[in-house]
Amino acid sequence: MATLEIHDLHVSVEAENGPREILRGVDLTVKQGETHAIMGPNGSGKSTLAYSLAGHPKYTVTGGTVTLDGEDVLAMSVDERARAGLFLAMQYPVEVPGVSVSNFLRTSATAVRGEAPKLRTWVKEVKEAMARLQMDPAFAERNVNEGFSGGEKKRHEILQLELLKPKIAVLDETDSGLDVDALRVVSEGVNRVRETGEVGTLLITHYTRILRYIKPDHVHVFAAGRIAESGGPELADKLEAEGYEAYVKGGASA
Ligand code: ADP
Ligand code: MG
Ligand code: MG
Repeated sequence: MATLEIHDLHVSVEAENGPREILRGVDLTVKQGETHAIMGPNGSGKSTLAYSLAGHPKYTVTGGTVTLDGEDVLAMSVDERARAGLFLAMQYPVEVPGVSVSNFLRTSATAVRGEAPKLRTWVKEVKEAMARLQMDPAFAERNVNEGFSGGEKKRHEILQLELLKPKIAVLDETDSGLDVDALRVVSEGVNRVRETGEVGTLLITHYTRILRYIKPDHVHVFAAGRIAESGGPELADKLEAEGYEAYVKGGASA
């Protein structure tokens, strides 16, 4: 079983007045087959964790380690991370001009699998995955992220997740723009890959409502750049009832 291990991770971003430490010692282990939720107030560094795992150049790791089955993830290029079995939805958050969803998916699958998928079976695979997500087949011919609605972005993300079959997936459910439709798509997709038992999921979210659809095995509360508390699904219920106030010193989040 693949294991992603984050140990004492420290990350800084370049701010106007110099580097600013955002992650202050994150410890987390995610195994294939497990579903973890990271929850926390706005500004606590959740997205920074996701960007750091994705190897975003704006985020500098100043300490700690990230390994996948003992291999140093932080030393890997973005492509190598994907080939190693990490799915980081934020790798491709932007528009990819002139590249259709269909070509993009095939290129990604080629990168991850090390060889181009056979065209015939691939077309069938994509069609079936799109049907499961109730996507219009015409979507495959659109350019990546060009004019995508929030729901379409999420569908595209889950489509990649299902087709690329990673060992560990990191999904950052940004705090805005997740309407009920998008929530359902994400939840069903996560639950489907979960049933395979072959994907470990790190679901990052501000809102507890997604946890009505996805029951995580482990819940972690993120505050001020580190995990402040970990527990089982009951912790999500407590957060839903009580909010994050107990974790935010002095009231306001960063
Ligand atoms: P969350 O996802 O929990 O809302 P973020 O990781 O987005 O939190 O942000 C954590 C803190 O880091 C915030 O104070 C934010 O302003 C700061 N931050 C994040 N990314 C950058 C960046 N690229 N440049 C400057 N500050 C950043
Ligand atoms: Mg935020
Ligand atoms: Mg965020």
